[in-house]
Amino acid sequence: MNKSEVETQSSLNRFITLTAIRGSSGNEALVAAEIERQLIEAGADPSQIAYDGAGERTRRSGDCGNLIVSLPGNGQGPRTLLSAHMDTVPICLGSEPVIDGDCVRSAAATGLGADDRAGCAAILTAVVERLKRGDQNFPPAVITFLIQEEVGLEGARHLDVEKVGSVDRAFNFDGGTVEKLTTGAIGGERIKIRLTGVPAHAGVAPEKGASTIVMAARAIADLDQNGWLGRVEKDGKFGTSNVGIIQAGDATNVITPEATLAAEARSHDPEMRTRIVTAIREAFQRATEQVANDEGVCGGMEFESHVDYESFRLPNDHPSIEKASEAVRLVGREPFQEISNGGLDANWLFLHGISAITLGCGQRNIHTAQETLDIGDYLDACRIASWLITDGAA
Ligand SMILES: [Zn+2]
Repeated sequence: MNKSEVETQSSLNRFITLTAIRGSSGNEALVAAEIERQLIEAGADPSQIAYDGAGERTRRSGDCGNLIVSLPGNGQGPRTLLSAHMDTVPICLGSEPVIDGDCVRSAAATGLGADDRAGCAAILTAVVERLKRGDQNFPPAVITFLIQEEVGLEGARHLDVEKVGSVDRAFNFDGGTVEKLTTGAIGGERIKIRLTGVPAHAGVAPEKGASTIVMAARAIADLDQNGWLGRVEKDGKFGTSNVGIIQAGDATNVITPEATLAAEARSHDPEMRTRIVTAIREAFQRATEQVANDEGVCGGMEFESHVDYESFRLPNDHPSIEKASEAVRLVGREPFQEISNGGLDANWLFLHGISAITLGCGQRNIHTAQETLDIGDYLDACRIASWLITDGAA
């Protein structure tokens, strides 16, 4: 079995072209249009290309949906999905990709945007190479270019699974090294807490007030003292939590009547994550009851929590892991498996019934102005993606 060869110069040009396009979360339409243009140029029929309208279902409305490309092939054998996300984090807007030795970096004071245009370029390269060799010579495949990954995996969450169709193997190309196969990831939940107290003049009649800042302080101290903040370990189960934002007050002479807090909880174990969220809710509930004015009027609370992504873990003997490992070995590298402590599009794909392995494409220092792409790694990612939907697809 041979590794699939890819045209190196055009693969690299493809990355550079896609990376120079401005496209933050919710503004992926220009990226999608360029991908579409290249697909048509490579011989794809417009009927193979569809949008799923996810941009109208996401929390922030987007200028396009997920782009889905169907490759019917010979209609036999397993159907393979390749996926990558089209948006970049805001620091990458205005990227000017230039080749610098073995790497690509941005000549402007921005991030490069290889997370995840390198993933998009790698799977687009795979499609172009497959079309060149004749789509009908290979088992069926489907390609998804997803929107709004960086703002909470919104594109994957709202993916129209009917439009994707049934999938037997799935490979998601995102940030990181080529050898790393991410086969599971943590689950995360976002929490919003609104506290209400009783306003009063802080100098004239402080006893008439009930301060939301005191409530917040008590609740957070309570969580901290009882091991529910930061790294959380209870009964051999693990998770993390953080209160990241507090907004309250606008004068020192007022007992603060309102406060809004934002927090999060994560765990590989959904039950443990729920326990952490419950501990946070109870701590704030107690604090609002404890802080009262001289007439016994205490505080109130609104508590909202929203599952960003559910944790998942593929079994060690999952056939996609074997396939991905084989692909990585064919480019002369030794694969290793990892479970991620951050959310991935694969978390939502899993909930949609698609078990995806996530592979890197050689992006370094993602989400910073020092982001680079290792060219050797990227070309290997192109070869891997290409092999997975051609010679390795059977
Ligand atoms: Zn990414």
